[in-house]
Amino acid sequence: MPGTLARECRRAGRLIRKLCELDRGRSAFQVESTEQKARLVLAGATVEMRIDRVDVLAAGGRAVLDYKTGTHASARWYDPRPTYPQLLAYLVALGEDVAALATVWVNPRALRFDGVARETGLLPGVKSVRAIPGAASADAWQAQRHTWRGVLERLVLAFIAGDAAVDPKAGACRNCHVINICRIAEREQPSGAEAGADE
Ligand code: SF4
Repeated sequence: MPGTLARECRRAGRLIRKLCELDRGRSAFQVESTEQKARLVLAGATVEMRIDRVDVLAAGGRAVLDYKTGTHASARWYDPRPTYPQLLAYLVALGEDVAALATVWVNPRALRFDGVARETGLLPGVKSVRAIPGAASADAWQAQRHTWRGVLERLVLAFIAGDAAVDPKAGACRNCHVINICRIAEREQPSGAEAGADE
């Protein structure tokens, strides 16, 4: 085996081992599926998807996981333009019993779950959904699910309407591979887009 390939295999092996250790420390769960196909019908559109992994949790409900190997970017679950809309689409497609969703970062600098859940403790380091004063966390989770569905509907409707405004999220241009041909250069200095603002 060439040296480079051998090194990469060793590196991948180390990461997978650490990931398994992270999983071993979790409360009880069972892997329900990997690479599961799912279909989301929303706002007149049909989206075909493939979900990295779904776990059934002993505490009740399912956890939806999306693996990431690139540069870690913190998720903004409550933004009108969420960082990982695909996870919200998985949640809506899978139905009522999804109790947690997370990106799983697998690279030498970041190996962790980064998500949001019905309650704290369903996934390592993943906190419960933002509280609603006077409401139980399960109710807050239901309310947030409803909000996310609305966010997705708005995104789908904008896509169907052909909304292609040059309006990147802060920091999005930093790692973009088509920046040299993008119309962003024709605009005046965009607010935060090229300034490398935090994602
Ligand atoms: S460079 Fe252009 S295409 Fe790339 S993220 Fe920025 S606005 Fe979008």
